[in-house]
Amino acid sequence: MIIQDKILKALDSVRPILQKDGGDVELVEIDNKKVKVKLTGACQGCRSATVTLSRAVLKAIQAEAPEIEELIEILPDGSEKKIESDAGSPWAGQKRIDGVKLIIAVASGKGGVGKSTIAVNLALALKAKGLAVGLLDADIYGPSAPTMLGIKELPPPQSNQIIPAHSHGLSVVSIGFFVAADSPMIWRGPMVMKAIKQFLHDVKWGELDCLIVDMPPGTGDAQLSLAQLVPVDAAIIVTTPSDVALVDARRGLKMFEKVNIRVMGIVENMSYFQCPHCDERTNIFSSGGGQKIADDLNATLLAEIPLDSLIRSSTDSGDPVVSSSVDSPQTQLFTDLADTVWQDITKKIPSWDKFGCHDFMQVPMKVG
Ligand code: ADP
Repeated sequence: MIIQDKILKALDSVRPILQKDGGDVELVEIDNKKVKVKLTGACQGCRSATVTLSRAVLKAIQAEAPEIEELIEILPDGSEKKIESDAGSPWAGQKRIDGVKLIIAVASGKGGVGKSTIAVNLALALKAKGLAVGLLDADIYGPSAPTMLGIKELPPPQSNQIIPAHSHGLSVVSIGFFVAADSPMIWRGPMVMKAIKQFLHDVKWGELDCLIVDMPPGTGDAQLSLAQLVPVDAAIIVTTPSDVALVDARRGLKMFEKVNIRVMGIVENMSYFQCPHCDERTNIFSSGGGQKIADDLNATLLAEIPLDSLIRSSTDSGDPVVSSSVDSPQTQLFTDLADTVWQDITKKIPSWDKFGCHDFMQVPMKVG
């Protein structure tokens, strides 16, 4: 077969997937061992999908015509971009979860800063915006979703798949359902990796706009596993304003950068206390720390949530404030946080509203 036919055959093999999203690929030129292509239609200029799409084209060409050494994508502005293969990269094993459009990790440098409280209430506030939301409680050292959402057990598995519980309108899976409540958690790296993998890929999550992952505190195996297993769209770091928490939050932020996960910003929890009697505001754990690390590390301060008895009592009793006190000022803070988060994530992924190009990434590549 002559080289042009091989290239056209390779492009034909990926074309149906591109066309599913209203896009296409066009052969521009074959120049010795270099091929130039252009993504067209809806996929043209779609930033989130482009890397995946062009890598799929590269894989197809490499399979059909191994003599080709270089693939160049002609971008909408006419400039040229060399497409690098992802083989050998630590993130090459990432696989999107079927049906799940976005993944947001909620993390903290240390325990007890209210990470789960923020994760649960944020998930509920996103759901209140009309989104289909899942919550994966992957905090192996202190799973709290069962308590915070009042869930006793998961439904029975179906065909070897874990079925999430449905509570307060969320699809929920927690590592807490798989270990005795009073047993100490001593996990080695490979066990953590295996558990996280199961919770991501062996759960029947269904169609979700967003999966919130409540991470264990710290910078360890769970964070690395998550980064290697799925493309995480953004991480949110929760901290209190106290100096000790801030040191760890800073470390957490740096760690996410290292594992290629974009940090959307910081939520400062227990930021202040507003006296319900005299209305005086006291900065119990100091003040301004979240803003300071946000400034230092070029991150955004997404919200300041006060130390508040309603937030504590509602969350700890299984009916978090966002669902139990819909019109409260506390809920408004989480609604504002959800708006900020959603605006940020849909802005960073421009294809989201227009083309639903994320569907593309969920189609298993069958090339060669
Ligand atoms: P982490 O996930 O960081 O370990 P949790 O979310 O489990 O922390 O919260 C620890 C405790 O602090 C819980 O009892 C929770 O209700 C309480 N808490 C969290 N955030 C607040 C807040 N803003 N005001 C009052 N109590 C809070």
